[in-house]
Amino acid sequence: MDESASRTDKHDVLSSTQSIIHTALTKLGYSEEMYELLKEPIRMMTVRIPVRMDDGSTKIFTGYRAQHNDAVGPTKGGVRFHPDVTETEVKALSIWMSLKAGIVNLPYGGGKGGIICDPRNMSFREVERLSRGYVRAISQIVGPTKDIPAPDVFTNSQIMAWMLDEYSRIREFDSANFITGKPLVLGGSHGRESATAKGVTICVTEAAKKQGIDMEGARVIIQGFGNAGSFLAKFMADAGALVVGIADAYGALYDENGLDIDYLLDRRDSFGTVTKLFKDTISNAELLEQECDILVPAAIENQITSQNAKNIKASIVVEAANGPTTLEATKILSDRGILLVPDVLASSGGVTVSYFEWVQNNQGYYWSDEEVEGKLQTVLVEAFDHIYQLAKRRKVDMRLAAYMVGVRRMAEASRFRGWV
Ligand code: GLU
Repeated sequence: MDESASRTDKHDVLSSTQSIIHTALTKLGYSEEMYELLKEPIRMMTVRIPVRMDDGSTKIFTGYRAQHNDAVGPTKGGVRFHPDVTETEVKALSIWMSLKAGIVNLPYGGGKGGIICDPRNMSFREVERLSRGYVRAISQIVGPTKDIPAPDVFTNSQIMAWMLDEYSRIREFDSANFITGKPLVLGGSHGRESATAKGVTICVTEAAKKQGIDMEGARVIIQGFGNAGSFLAKFMADAGALVVGIADAYGALYDENGLDIDYLLDRRDSFGTVTKLFKDTISNAELLEQECDILVPAAIENQITSQNAKNIKASIVVEAANGPTTLEATKILSDRGILLVPDVLASSGGVTVSYFEWVQNNQGYYWSDEEVEGKLQTVLVEAFDHIYQLAKRRKVDMRLAAYMVGVRRMAEASRFRGWV
C-alpha cells in the first residue's frame, strides 16, 4: 500500500468511528453537544524525539499521545511503533480505548500513543533510546492516575520495562503502576501477554454457541501472527478447532486439512513473520476469501471492505485487530447473516488484564494465573451477552450495540461532571 493511500484510509477510520458514535449517542437520547465533546480526544500531544543511532547519526522521530476522555478515570491505552502511524489513526485508537473501557466496565477513559518508526529495521539499543525519549517527551501528561500506557503493535514487555525505568528516573520514585504489560519481575501480571488472544477466544466460543457451530473441528482463519494472532492460533488449536489459514505482513498460508501451528509458532520471529519461509503462499486478500467457519482479522485496519465483504465465506467474524472492517463492509456482512463481533468488544481482553495488573500494582498483592483467567472469563462473557442481547432487542448490529454500551458511561460521567 502506498503512503498516501494508507493515510487516507486512516482518515476514514476516524470519521467512521465518529459516525457510529453519533448514531449511538442519538439512540441513547444524548444531545449534539455531547457528540461535539466525544468526537475528538480532549488532549493530543505531538512530540519530536531525537535519537542517537548506532552509526553516530541523529534521527528525529515523531510521536503522539492522545487522551480521549477522562470523565470516568485516568486514560489508558497502548503505544504503537509502526511506520504507518498517523495523528488521525492515534486519535481513532484512543476513542476505541474509551469504548473498550466502557464495554468491560473499567474505571478508565481511553488513551493511545504511537511513534512513526520501523522497529524491524532498528537495533535493540536504538529502540531502547527511542522508548526512553518518548517517555521523557510525554512525561508531563502521563502517570499512574493520569494516563497509563501499555503495549500495542510492535511494542512488548521489554519496551514497557525501559519506559517504566525512564519514568522512575524522572519522577524519582519507583512507580510500577505507571505502565502495564511489564515483565512479571517488574510488577507485570500473569496472563497479560496472552490476554488479548484469551479475550478473543472467549468471544469466538460465545459466538460459536450462538451460531450453532461446534468448536471441535471448526475451520478457523487468522489474519495476523503477532501477539494476538499467534496466541490465538494456539488457543484455537487447543480448543479442538482446525486452523486452516494464517497470515503475516508478507503473505498467507492456507491448508484445508489444517496447519501445523506448533511448527509455525516455533519458526515465527518476534514481529510475527513466518510466511517468508514458505514457497506456496497466497496474499492476505486471498486468504480472507477462503473457505472457513470462523474468520479472525488480527492484523491492522481496513482489511474487510465493500470490495471483499460479499466474498467472505465465514459465518462468524471476530475482530481481534482494531478497525479491520469498514462501515460499509459491516453492513454487507450483517445483511448476509454473518455474526460480526466488533473490535471494541473482542479485543478488550488486553486492557482488561492491564487493569488487573494496575490494580495488583496499586495494592501490592499479586494474583495467580488461574485468578486472572477466571476474572477475565467472567468479565468478557458478561460483556458479550450484554451486547448480544442489546443488539437483538434494539435490532441493530453488534458493532452499534457495543458502541452504545461503550459510550454511555463516559457520556453519563461527563454530564454528572457538568461538562455538557
Ligand atoms: N493495546 C491494547 C489495546 O489496543 C491494550 C491496551 C492496554 O492494555 O492498556 O487494547
